[in-house]
Amino acid sequence: MGKPEFIGKKSKAAGGWGALRSCGKKLLASGAPLSGAVAMLKANQPDGFDCPGCAWGDPEHGSSFEFCENGVKAVAWEATDKRVGPDFFARHTVSQLRTWTDYELEQQGRLTHPLRYDASKDTYVKATWDEAFAEIGGILKGLDSPDRAEFYTSGRASNEAAYLYQLFVRLYGTNNFPDCSNMCHEASGIALEAAVGIGKGTVTLEDFEKADAIFVIGQNPGTNHPRMLGDLRRAALRGARVAVFNPVREKGLERFADPQDKLEMLTGGSTAIASEYYQVNVGGDMAAIRGMAKAVFAADDAALSEGRPSVLDHGFLRQHTSGLAEYRAAVEATSWELIEHQSGLSRSQLEHLAQIYIESDRTICTWAMGVTQHRHSVATIREIASFMFLRGNVGRPGTGLCPVRGHSNVQGDRTVGINEKPPAAFLDALEKELGVAMPRRHGHNVLAAIGAMLDGTAQAFIGLGGNFARATPDSALIAKAMRRQKLTVNIATKLNHSHLLPGEVSYVLPCLGRTEIDRNAKGVAQIVTVEDSMSMVHGSGGINKPASPELRSEVGIIAGIAAATVGSEVVDWPSLAQNYDGIRDLIARTIPGFHGYNERVRRPRGFRLYNAVDHRVWNTATQRATFSSDALPRATEHQQALGEQGLFVLQTFRSHDQYNTTVYGLDDRYRGIYGERRVVFVNPDDLAEIGASAGDRVDIIGRHDDGHERIAESFRVVPYDLPRGSVAGYYPELNVLVPLSTAGELSDTPTSKSVLVSFRPALQRDAA
Ligand code: SF4
Repeated sequence: MGKPEFIGKKSKAAGGWGALRSCGKKLLASGAPLSGAVAMLKANQPDGFDCPGCAWGDPEHGSSFEFCENGVKAVAWEATDKRVGPDFFARHTVSQLRTWTDYELEQQGRLTHPLRYDASKDTYVKATWDEAFAEIGGILKGLDSPDRAEFYTSGRASNEAAYLYQLFVRLYGTNNFPDCSNMCHEASGIALEAAVGIGKGTVTLEDFEKADAIFVIGQNPGTNHPRMLGDLRRAALRGARVAVFNPVREKGLERFADPQDKLEMLTGGSTAIASEYYQVNVGGDMAAIRGMAKAVFAADDAALSEGRPSVLDHGFLRQHTSGLAEYRAAVEATSWELIEHQSGLSRSQLEHLAQIYIESDRTICTWAMGVTQHRHSVATIREIASFMFLRGNVGRPGTGLCPVRGHSNVQGDRTVGINEKPPAAFLDALEKELGVAMPRRHGHNVLAAIGAMLDGTAQAFIGLGGNFARATPDSALIAKAMRRQKLTVNIATKLNHSHLLPGEVSYVLPCLGRTEIDRNAKGVAQIVTVEDSMSMVHGSGGINKPASPELRSEVGIIAGIAAATVGSEVVDWPSLAQNYDGIRDLIARTIPGFHGYNERVRRPRGFRLYNAVDHRVWNTATQRATFSSDALPRATEHQQALGEQGLFVLQTFRSHDQYNTTVYGLDDRYRGIYGERRVVFVNPDDLAEIGASAGDRVDIIGRHDDGHERIAESFRVVPYDLPRGSVAGYYPELNVLVPLSTAGELSDTPTSKSVLVSFRPALQRDAA
C-alpha cells in the first residue's frame, strides 16, 4: 500500500526558498499581497511595528529584512482583506460555527463591529460601543464580589493595554489575572526568581555572538522563533557548539538556509545548526542536565587528582553562590542508572556533552515548552541554572539563561502588572499614586480561574486577546466553564472558538491589530511598547489602514469598560486613551526601571530594562545565586509509558503553519505533513503495539485516572523519528486530552508535554 496522501517530503532545510514560497502564498491568500509586502519592510524596524509573532529580539544593527516566514504569516493574517461583520453572522448561527475547525474560522477574516450575542437567534448582532461598555460595566458592578470575574490576558497585549487593564481590574477590586504565561513560561519565572533573583532571561542578542557553546533544550525555534535560527547559524559558522536536547528531530535545528545569504540561496545550500543532537526522553531534560553535572564534578576530581586546574569557576562559586555542597551531594546521590533510564541518553553521551561544556568559556542555555510543560519543570530549570553556575555562566558576556518566550509581549505583560500574585511593593506604589487601597488577596491563575468558572464561583470572563477555550487544557470542560458565565467578553481581531461559547450575555469587541495605525481623536498616531525575551523594551507604531472604521485600540476598549465599571474619578481613562504617554508616565512612576520611559522608548530599538544579573547582583532569598538540590522525579510519564504495554506519553506541539492557537494553514512541511492536522506521530517500532499502520485512523484515549473520559477521535498515524513510548501531535486539537487535574509543581502549568494516552482503532472512519 502506497504512502498516505497527506505524508510527503520533508524540507531539506528550514528557511530557504521554501520559506519565501510560503511567504508569497500567505501574502497572496491575504488578498493584499502588495500592502502586505510593503508592511513587512517596517516589521521590527525602529520606525515600524513590532511583529505580532514571537518574542525573539531585534538586533541593534538589524537589516532591512528583520522578519521571518512566521512574521509574514502573522502580518498577512492581520492585513487580510476578508471581513467578519454583522452580515456574516446573519448567515451563520453560533452553533453551526462551533462545528468549524480553527483553520476555517481563522480564514473568515477581521472582525469589523462590536457584536452582542442574541440567544433568540443564536448568533451575534451588531451593537454600539456605548451599549457594550454600559452593559458590561453594569453586569460587573452587579456581581456580589469582584472576585467573581476573571480577567484573561494574551501575550499580544501591549505594555500600555496590559498596564491599563491591571489598573482597571485592581481598582475594580480583584487580582484574578489568568494569563497565557501561566500555560507557557510560568515555571521559568518561578525557577529563575529562586535561582538568580529575577523571573526573566539574563541574555542579550549580543551574547549569542560571543558564546562558545549554546545548549538548546526542549525548543523548536525553526517554527516558534525562526529568526533565532539566524543567530544560531552565525554561532555555528564561527565554530560555536550548538547542542540540542529534543525528543523530536526538528528540521530547523538540523539545517537552515538563510534567505538573506545569497550564496546559500543561489546554490540551494544550507548550514548545519546542531553540532550535537540528542533525542532525550520526554521530560528527561532534568536527568540529562544532572548527568552532565555529574560528569563535570567527576572531570574536576580527575583534573585535581592529576594536578590540572579545576574545571569549576571557584571564584564565582565562592563569591556569588550558595548551596553548592547540597547540590553536589544531590548530584552524587543520583545514580547513573536512573539518569540514563530517565534521560534516555547514555553515560558516555552525557560525558561528551559535559566535555563540550568544560571546553567552552562562555555558555548559554535556551529553552521553551519542552522544558516548561511538565510536572517537574521548575526543578528542571533550577537544575539548568545550577549546572550553569558551575563554570560561572551567568552575568557575564556570552553566557546566560534564556527562556525564549512564545508571544511578542508575554514578558512585558507580567512586567507591567499582569500577575495574580502581585508584589507588595507594586501595590504600595499604586496606592501611593492613586490614593486608594489595592486588593491584596492573591487572585486566580489560569487553572484556578477555570476551576472557579466550572464550580460557579466565577460568573464573568473578560478576554484581552487570545483564544482561551482553545489554548487551555481539557477542552470539553472549558466549553462548559465558558457557557456557565453570566458574562463573556472577548477583545479580538479575528473570529475564534472562544467567541462561540457565549455566556448569558456575550460581547465580541473588535480591536486594532499591531500593524494598524492607532490615531487618537486629534488624528495623532500613537505608539505602543513591548518587551522581548531579552528584556528590550521598544516602540511599535502601526502602518496599515485599520480593517474597519469601527475598530478601537485595546487601550481604548479597556478605557471604555473601565469608565463604565469603576468611573473616572480616580483614573481619567478617556485622557489616557487619547495619549499613551500618560500611561507610560504612570508606569514610570509605579514600576522600577521605566524612568524616562517616553523619551527612552523613542530611541531606535528602545532600551533594556535593568537586569541585576548583568551586574551579578542576586535578589534571591540568600542574596546569592542559589543552587537547588532537588531529587530527580521518581519516574516521568515517559518511564511509566515504557513500563506498560499500550501506554504512551503524548506531547502536544505546533505545526509549522500555526502560531499558538492560530492556524494559518494545514501544512507542516518541515515534518512532511500536507493538508492534514488530525495526525499523531508515532515511532515506527511502536506501530505494532498500537496495531496501526501509516495513515490509519485511531482514537487517542486519555489515561489520566481522574474520573473524566477524554478521547481525541479519528487521528491519522504518521511513523516518525521519536523515542519509543512517546507520541506527538498538534494543539489545540489534542488539548482535549490534557487533564486540568495534572499541572506543574509550583507553576500550575498544564502538563501538555507529558500526557498519558493509549490507542484504539477509530470508531468513526471520517474526521470527528
Ligand atoms: S522571529 Fe518571531 S518576532 Fe521575529 S519575525 Fe519571526 S515571528 Fe516575528
